[in-house]
This record gives sequence, C-alpha cells and structure tokens, in this order.
Amino acid sequence: MLEGQVAVVTGASRGIGAAIAKRLAKEGAFVIVNYQGSQERAEQVKKEIEEAGGRAALWRCDVSDAAECQAMLEGVRKEYGAVDILVNNAGINRDGLLLTMSQDDFDRVVKTNLYGCFYCTKAAAKGMIKKRSGRIVNISSVSGVLGNAGQANYAASKAGIIGFTKTAARELAGRGVTVNAIAPGFIETDMTGKLSEDVRTAAAAQIPLKRFGKPEDIAAAVAFLASPEAGYITGQVLGVDGGMAM
Ligand code: NDP
Repeated sequence: MLEGQVAVVTGASRGIGAAIAKRLAKEGAFVIVNYQGSQERAEQVKKEIEEAGGRAALWRCDVSDAAECQAMLEGVRKEYGAVDILVNNAGINRDGLLLTMSQDDFDRVVKTNLYGCFYCTKAAAKGMIKKRSGRIVNISSVSGVLGNAGQANYAASKAGIIGFTKTAARELAGRGVTVNAIAPGFIETDMTGKLSEDVRTAAAAQIPLKRFGKPEDIAAAVAFLASPEAGYITGQVLGVDGGMAM
C-alpha cells in the first residue's frame, strides 16, 4: 500500500516507534529509523525490517534540537528523494507531582515531545507542500486528553500536540497534506515497564478492555492514517486506548 514512499519515524529504536517502523516497511515504505541514544537497538530494527524483505536506513537526531531536525528532514529529502510520511513518535516522561516538579523536568519533556513535533513537522511540511501530498501522524497520549496526576509536563506536551495537529491540519489541508494524532492509552513498552505491579494492576482496572495494548496496536492505526485510504481524514485524534477515553 505504501510502495515508493519514504517514511521518517522518530524514536524508532524501541517500543511503539520500532513497531511503527516495521509496520510501515511491511506496507512497502522505505523507512528512516530515527534514534537518539539507542544505536544498537535501532540497528536491530533495521536488520529485522531487512530480514522481512523491507528497506530502511538509520538516522541519529535529537528531536529536541531544531537544527538537527532540520538537517535530518533535509538530508532525507536529498538522499532519498522525498519525505512522504512523517511520524512524530519520539517522546519521554519525567513524572512527578506538580508541586515538586523541577523546571528542568518540565522543560525537557515539553522540548522533546512538543517542540520535537514542531521542528520535524515544519521541516517536513515544506517538501510535502511542494509535492502537494503528504501524511503526518503525531503520537499524543490519553494523558493529553484526560490529564493524569503526576504528569503535568507530559500531559501538557501531549495536549499541545493535539492543538498543534489540528492547526497544522487546517493550514496544510489545501496542499494535499493530512495531519492526524493518535492518543494511545497504556501500551507495553520500556516507558510503562517502569511502573510497579500495583500501579499496573490499578491502571488495567481503569481500562474497559482490561489490559494494556501492544506497540503493534498503535502501528496498525498509524499504517491506516498514513495510507491512501485515509486521504479524507485530517485533524483527528484517534484514541487507541482500550476504551479509556471514550
Ligand atoms: P519508549 O521509552 O519505549 O521509547 C522512546 C523512543 O523515543 C526511543 O526510541 C527513544 O530513542 C526516542 N527518543 C527519546 N528522546 C528522543 C530524542 N530527544 N530524540 C529522538 N528520539 C528520542 O517509549 P514508547 O515507545 O512507550 O513511546 C513512544 C511514544 O508514544 C512517545 O511519544 C510516548 O509519549 C507515546 N505514548 C506511549 C504510551 C505508552 O503507554 N507506552 C502511552 C501514550 C503515548 P533512543 O532510545 O534512541 O534515545
């Protein structure tokens, strides 16, 4: 479905991003596996894609750095011809209650999650506008929709992504570019692996489907929104959360 397309997936060395990269490659896209620190794991993702018959390349870039994002998107366009699909997935959390949250923890999370999304989208949109086609999928969170105690920084960044998505969707719609967000609930990755067993059990009890999701559940939704079949969908926030935010 995505043959001949070039996709950039940020934060694709692990977790949800790795699953998205593998799925888009399976659909036929040439995938740029972006990573920051986990080079070996990124290489493993590339290897798995190639062993499955797909095509991929690695690109190290810190998405909280505007110049690095510009260089990555520009570099991909020069080396591989285009950026047809951008998935803004890279993200971090530094949880803590509001009254004790440090300025640095707030800044770091917003800079990575929200600024990173802005930097990469801005750099990718130019080429998409020229081509008059493109797909941007931003990974938000159920925390950005509902709020979550202990995540003022993270929820603010993820709610920001939703406003950003809707605005970019409106600005780019006339140029054939769609921009959508996915709001995952609890997904089994390193990020949720840090939670204690008690917290996990309490969290699962709040989910109508009574279990955590898998990275592949998010990847399937991204593959759909990135596909030609989703061409009439823009500015939407798709919850993939076991029913948490219905
Ligand atoms: P992980 O912690 O498993 O992986 C995070 C990924 O982001 C890694 O590949 C990491 O790369 C990358 N990353 C972090 N900082 C940067 C940076 N500055 N520049 C480039 N890449 C970076 O997270 P998940 O897979 O769980 O989460 C992926 C996304 O989904 C995030 O945006 C997260 O907020 C969101 N999400 C996750 C949920 C969950 O339950 N897991 C729920 C809702 C949303 P590296 O290791 O190479 O540094």
